[in-house]
Amino acid sequence: MRDFAPGWTGNWRNMDDKLAEYRRKRELRGTPEPAGATGSRRRKPRFVIQQHDASSMHYDFRLEVDGVLKSWAVPKGPSTDPREKRLAVAVEDHPLDYGGFEGVIPEGHYGAGRVIVWDAGTYRNLGADPLAQAFDAGHASIWLDGQKLRGGYALTRIARTGKSERWLLVKIDDEAADRRRHPVSTQPESVLSGHTVKDVR
Ligand code: MN
Repeated sequence: MRDFAPGWTGNWRNMDDKLAEYRRKRELRGTPEPAGATGSRRRKPRFVIQQHDASSMHYDFRLEVDGVLKSWAVPKGPSTDPREKRLAVAVEDHPLDYGGFEGVIPEGHYGAGRVIVWDAGTYRNLGADPLAQAFDAGHASIWLDGQKLRGGYALTRIARTGKSERWLLVKIDDEAADRRRHPVSTQPESVLSGHTVKDVR
């Protein structure tokens, strides 16, 4: 996979390459998940956290970077407490329109189970380097402006085995940090529909 300069706006063939793994894992007929239309870059990049009740419960943390959603699976979900280090396993890039997906992935399909949009909003890069470069280097800091989460978060790669990468997602100790809030347990509803992951259809 090649890297793109920031501000790059569209090379359809390479965009398709970026999503090749996403499509390879899915037989898209028979699942309501988006096929992966590639749109133009928005001015403010978006983030989304999808709670995914699959073979094991996790939260898919996704950041819009260079026309795709960079993605991590976070088993415990994000914390607002800077003392909490949350494991985040890197997964394949997802198409931008996946960020609006909520519903049921049928049995027999990759990731079968229920998905809600647990949080969504915009973010900005707190670092000096473009995010794609920061991810290559293994450390990035971002500011989230979501409906549930706000403030700085750090992503740090801690292990790399072949194609698999383990990262930590940690709240930065800033004015938005809160040691007593536990939004994963106290705010379980979708920001799109109000449904919990157990009652989404
Ligand atoms: Mn998932």
